[in-house]
Amino acid sequence: MNDQQRQDVCDRDRPDHRKLGRELELFDTDPLIGAGLPYWLPAGAAVRHALEEYVRELERRAGYRHVYSPVLGKRELYEISGHWAHYREDMFPPMELGGDEVVLRPSLCPHHAVIFRSRARSYRELPLRMAELGGMYRAERSGVLGGLTRVRSIQLNDAHIFCTLDQVAEEARAALGLIREAYRALGIEAVRYRLSLPGAGNKYVADPAMWQRAADLLVGVLAEAGIDYESAEGEAAFYGPKIDVQIADPAGREATLSTIQVDFHQPARFDLRYIGPDGAKHRPVMVHRAVIGSVERAVAHLIEQHAGAFPAWLAPVQLVALPVGDAELPAAAALVERCLAAGLRAELADPEEGSLGARIRAARLVPYQAVIGGREAVAGSVALRLRDGRRPAELPVAGAVARIRQAVVARRIELWDDAARADQVAIGRRPG
Ligand SMILES: [Zn+2]
Repeated sequence: MNDQQRQDVCDRDRPDHRKLGRELELFDTDPLIGAGLPYWLPAGAAVRHALEEYVRELERRAGYRHVYSPVLGKRELYEISGHWAHYREDMFPPMELGGDEVVLRPSLCPHHAVIFRSRARSYRELPLRMAELGGMYRAERSGVLGGLTRVRSIQLNDAHIFCTLDQVAEEARAALGLIREAYRALGIEAVRYRLSLPGAGNKYVADPAMWQRAADLLVGVLAEAGIDYESAEGEAAFYGPKIDVQIADPAGREATLSTIQVDFHQPARFDLRYIGPDGAKHRPVMVHRAVIGSVERAVAHLIEQHAGAFPAWLAPVQLVALPVGDAELPAAAALVERCLAAGLRAELADPEEGSLGARIRAARLVPYQAVIGGREAVAGSVALRLRDGRRPAELPVAGAVARIRQAVVARRIELWDDAARADQVAIGRRPG
């Protein structure tokens, strides 16, 4: 075997989200819909829904307020924002509509800037944290498209914080804290923090003093958090410098998942104002930030990171009920009902689907496998098998469901907390 063949074998063994996506029926594509436009199957949609709900809840607790805005806008909107001048080659071509030209948006920022200026704003409203999990589009060349990592239709976990210059550092620091909290819950590790600065060329808005001020603020935030970072020339957004949080796939290829950007440019372009304590009009700063970035890339990474064995709170199916034979079917169906009523995603693996061993193997990625034999059916209990091979002591059905629910609600990575007791379940408890 030569080095290339060895590398190929190695690559085959690495989790690949495209391969797992098909095997686990998470997502797929169809040439008739088009390249780079994946659709989500029920199992993938369950993961995505859990992820989106988590992010919205995280943001709500951090003082963000959510909006919805359309995925289209007039070309003029992007001329004002600067996207048309700096980013046009990555945008879909405009569509003629009643004398206007409308385009699929390449970012959410201009919509949020327009929402900010939809009425007069007071300094008392700042920092105003506007969040949206919204669609955007990128005209990627067909040669680079694949799986969920390079797509043309993107669901972005985006937010814009409109604030005073004095508030920027605290907002960027808080955004960094959210990113780190989310990574803990998702079992994601950042491999590198990158401070992206402008490079040569005319892609960047010219105002060196503004750039320097924004970069200094971000350096201060990273230094205070004790985070090692690398400076990268030429990776900045055209309107300002940014902190990029880098992740790596199992082959070591890096991608940016989360970003924090400081922008003095778009507030000026959209002539954003707020009334200060002095009664005069002032210009806010915009902090752009994404916690999990694009939902597509985040899910692709989670699939590979966990090799399909998602943390219980994200798993498409959290519990599978396995009756040993037909006699235990009613008890197993009742367990599934009970799980569904408790807000869990549960399924029944009917004895018709094969031997108990075969059904357990088929459900090997399901975090909780509940075997129900004659004894359990009579006793109203359940013998749990955890995905990691552990087998907790037999439990009454109510206690087992409560324990699982507790782990899921707390979004714990750990499947089973041996110290926890079923009678101490705190519904709705937050992760520590
Ligand atoms: Zn933005």
